[in-house]
Amino acid sequence: MFTLPQKDFRAPTTCLGPTCMQDLGSSHGEDLEGECSRKLDQKLPELRGVGDPAMISSDTSYLSSRGRMIKWFWDSAEEGYRTYHMDEYDEDKNPSGIINLGTSENKLCFDLLSWRLSQRDMQRVEPSLLQYADWRGHLFLREEVAKFLSFYCKSPVPLRPENVVVLNGGASLFSALATVLCEAGEAFLIPTPYYGAITQHVCLYGNIRLAYVYLDSEVTGLDTRPFQLTVEKLEMALREAHSEGVKVKGLILISPQNPLGDVYSPEELQEYLVFAKRHRLHVIVDEVYMLSVFEKSVGYRSVLSLERLPDPQRTHVMWATSKDFGMSGLRFGTLYTENQDVATAVASLCRYHGLSGLVQYQMAQLLRDRDWINQVYLPENHARLKAAHTYVSEELRALGIPFLSRGAGFFIWVDLRKYLPKGTFEEEMLLWRRFLDNKVLLSFGKAFECKEPGWFRFVFSDQVHRLCLGMQRVQQVLAGKSQVAEDPRPSQSQEPSDQRR
Ligand SMILES: *Cc1c(COP(=O)(O)O)cnc(C)c1O
Repeated sequence: MFTLPQKDFRAPTTCLGPTCMQDLGSSHGEDLEGECSRKLDQKLPELRGVGDPAMISSDTSYLSSRGRMIKWFWDSAEEGYRTYHMDEYDEDKNPSGIINLGTSENKLCFDLLSWRLSQRDMQRVEPSLLQYADWRGHLFLREEVAKFLSFYCKSPVPLRPENVVVLNGGASLFSALATVLCEAGEAFLIPTPYYGAITQHVCLYGNIRLAYVYLDSEVTGLDTRPFQLTVEKLEMALREAHSEGVKVKGLILISPQNPLGDVYSPEELQEYLVFAKRHRLHVIVDEVYMLSVFEKSVGYRSVLSLERLPDPQRTHVMWATSKDFGMSGLRFGTLYTENQDVATAVASLCRYHGLSGLVQYQMAQLLRDRDWINQVYLPENHARLKAAHTYVSEELRALGIPFLSRGAGFFIWVDLRKYLPKGTFEEEMLLWRRFLDNKVLLSFGKAFECKEPGWFRFVFSDQVHRLCLGMQRVQQVLAGKSQVAEDPRPSQSQEPSDQRR
């Protein structure tokens, strides 16, 4: 195996600057598991086994150390997707291609959306839509967003357009918020398992890290459900971060949660927000799946529905159309915050993350069409999500596989621990590879920083014929009938860590 000279291997880490990278070798970098430093520290050695030695060193002549870190994320993160895109399943053209149960997208409602988006009222061109506009977004759109969120979040008082900033998706919003709220090297608390892409969102531009609040599947103490977040666990993780010398600036909450599909009750939300206020922490509340609650019995409540926010100046809410409207390719997201400094700073970054005037017009038309959303889109979307969810959960039950899922989001959190004899992450990776070799792409728990090896996320929001084939292939692997090698091939020793969108 080719071994990079130590100095070359270490070099990319310096991009993180002295604030968070002083002592890579010490417990600081390892115990806190601050993503950027930890990933580079632990995973770069794996890179040494792949490809041409010249590849890494020649990069260094073109890119800054920061550029190399950014490129490294790309190189190391996308293996599953690269493999998938080279061999996508298509019922006619490529029936033996890869079935994607790994990407969190809703592929069930394209017919409805393409109909709505091609109606005549969507096509309008006027000078103001082609000219520079307010970077927060056109007022007509921010007014619609405020009304839309007031209605669907059930806010006790009408939400205000001046608290809205629109931009191109949730990813940009994480990146912008992290950059304007934190110094480089500072951290956000985040409960794990979590939507792993956030690691990159906060790190690539801002050099902000994540401090994990590890949750586990065992229900102990006062917990009532697996992977339950409690204030005690938050307090502990915060103390730990402080003892490592890491400054925590905020907390990231996702509800409905990805990958657990959990929702937080109003009482829980309140407790977490009070915890944050006590420590003067910002809270980013990601409600990107708020309209994808397809089980009526799930009492979902938006944070914006609370009677009073404990610390409104430090509470920032995120929503996007990527998931709830099944249009992750359109790139529309929004921030709601009462803090005008934060709104203005994010808006300033919208020079780089802003939306086309034409898309702003279309989104205003879409969000304003309450009749279509309430009477057509949401009922149909929820019925389809529920049917797909029922199908996959019944398949799993028939296979005797335990899983968690609460009726929100696009995924089921599946417990395959019994298929790992030693219970290690290496085995988890091997199993993931066997799925991929048998033409089904899943996401493994490590990509969500789950601390227990053996959990996988299955995305079910797809057509039933694809789900059916995907589940057959899963079953073949678990029954040991797939035609694949037990060992990882040398060419694939690089860890694909981004199976988590
Ligand atoms: C997919 C997703 C997003 C949104 O991503 P976009 O950048 O809008 O595509 C945000 N948060 C979570 C938890 C997600 O799963």
